[in-house]
Amino acid sequence: MVMSMKPRDAKLRILGKTFRYTVDFFQDHEFIQLMPVMLGKSVDPLGPDPGSSIIEIPKISYQGEVLRLVTSMILHKQVAVKEFKKIFIMSPNIRLERPERKETGRHLFEFTQADFEMADAGMEDIFELVERYYVGLSAFLHEKAEEEFAALGVKPFYFKTPFQCYTTAELKNTYGEDWELPASKQHQQPFWALSHKREFYDKQSSDGSYQNYDIIYPLGFGEGLSGAEREHEYEKIIMRMTRDKLDQSAYTSYLEHARKGLFPSAGAGIGMERLALFLTQSSHIGEVSVFPRVPGIPVDI
Ligand code: AMP
Ligand code: MG
Repeated sequence: MVMSMKPRDAKLRILGKTFRYTVDFFQDHEFIQLMPVMLGKSVDPLGPDPGSSIIEIPKISYQGEVLRLVTSMILHKQVAVKEFKKIFIMSPNIRLERPERKETGRHLFEFTQADFEMADAGMEDIFELVERYYVGLSAFLHEKAEEEFAALGVKPFYFKTPFQCYTTAELKNTYGEDWELPASKQHQQPFWALSHKREFYDKQSSDGSYQNYDIIYPLGFGEGLSGAEREHEYEKIIMRMTRDKLDQSAYTSYLEHARKGLFPSAGAGIGMERLALFLTQSSHIGEVSVFPRVPGIPVDI
């Protein structure tokens, strides 16, 4: 007798297959895969992004230097893209989210993102690449994960492109200040949300709008990707760090790179567990992890 697959196994297998597809996708598009960095002298401050809610960025001392646990590899991507042009990392991130985030069902304090960056790229290049990624993922999972989806009683999601685009101003007008979940619930397909007030490394036009973007998954699953055209000019980086009241001593090494010259680029990060949560239509992100790091819940081992 053939044993039927357990739903928990099916969820983990779908995450694994999504991970495999992601690595192949970026390699097939000639991105160089970097291994993750988990300690950085300068790391993503994650603010002022209203979507971010970390308590602190933990530090360790080693060899007389202060190193921080990596919240994201954005600053490392900006440095690496200058030489390597098209890069990606399956990047573990530590973000000590506030305990209230236990209730969202969509937050972990350790998770993995597929983080990529392209030199000389603009928003349109990223949209084209990312939409191709999701369409290919549908086809891949239809073919390779039939048994897993059958075990869950869920249909593999069929991504239809191009995704609709809205500015955050439009979304606020229609759905109110906290537009993300209501807008997500009203959609049957993912959509792009453009121009978020965000960190110093996202490009901002003279009219105040930002050249950044999120993908919001439909059916109430919320944000799945964030990215931007990056600020590479030293003076503007300094201006924005001042605007954000950041302690510049935590960015000395990054600023040294910026002073010597960064390269124009654009990129994004796709949360792998978030994507699996959506694909498997699970009710909590912890269901796609064996050792879920859920804010507000003690760690098992
Ligand atoms: P960010 O650039 O901070 O938006 O992170 C990139 C992507 O990683 C997000 O769009 C989510 O898909 C995912 N992500 C961010 N924070 C978390 C978290 N605390 N738990 C799980 N996934 C996350
Ligand atoms: Mg985001």
